[in-house]
Amino acid sequence: MQRASARPRGVDSTVRSGAGGFRPIPRDQPQPGASLAEILRFFLAKPSPVVIATTFVVAAATRVLIGSWGWWDLVIPLVVVALEPFTEWLIHVHVLHRKPTRIGRFTIDPVTARKHRDHHRNPKDLRIVMVPYQALVPALVLAGAVAVLLEPKRAAMVIASGFGMLLWYEWVHYLIHSPYRPRSTWFRNLSRNHIKHHFKNEHYWFGVTVSLGDRVLGTKPDEASVDVSPTVRTLGVE
Ligand SMILES: [Zn+2]
Ligand SMILES: [Zn+2]
Repeated sequence: MQRASARPRGVDSTVRSGAGGFRPIPRDQPQPGASLAEILRFFLAKPSPVVIATTFVVAAATRVLIGSWGWWDLVIPLVVVALEPFTEWLIHVHVLHRKPTRIGRFTIDPVTARKHRDHHRNPKDLRIVMVPYQALVPALVLAGAVAVLLEPKRAAMVIASGFGMLLWYEWVHYLIHSPYRPRSTWFRNLSRNHIKHHFKNEHYWFGVTVSLGDRVLGTKPDEASVDVSPTVRTLGVE
């Protein structure tokens, strides 16, 4: 049993949110003190990482089996990695933080934005950290279209690169929200960046696996110059 006096570890242990009311931490997720291997086991027990990892492995194996390597095999993954800071930033800002739009009697509020707001309200609930199936299904449809439209060896490389990147994103995001305490400076900086997005001000620090997008697009200010946002947990939508 967890002692009442034990300080909860995880995303909200370093920056105070100034707002209570978190959902209790579920029992069926890594608890404080969990090892990295234990966290990885929990991660791989969820459908989203399994689907992403399987797609990545199948595509990568297909690419290896086809053989006949060329310079495209270097260019495709390099482009995916080089675009990642901006891919993450654009999706986070324009898809996940999208405000509901009213058109007459109707309100357009995509499930991806609703799920992200739930994640902001309950950042320690690891059950809702993953990419939702409502986003995963379109990604798989897109992979299917790539498989049909491109030459098999190119298609396999595009899908392996895209899903490999997505898997890395999913794992880093999960790890940041888990009770794991980062040791390397690289991971500590990434973790700090995301914690500030969740607990200081949601208008900044959008990068998850890399903060280059924030640096280039002007959303990585000096922390001391930024006020704690009153809407950091609701994203301004009650
Ligand atoms: Zn997060
Ligand atoms: Zn966000």
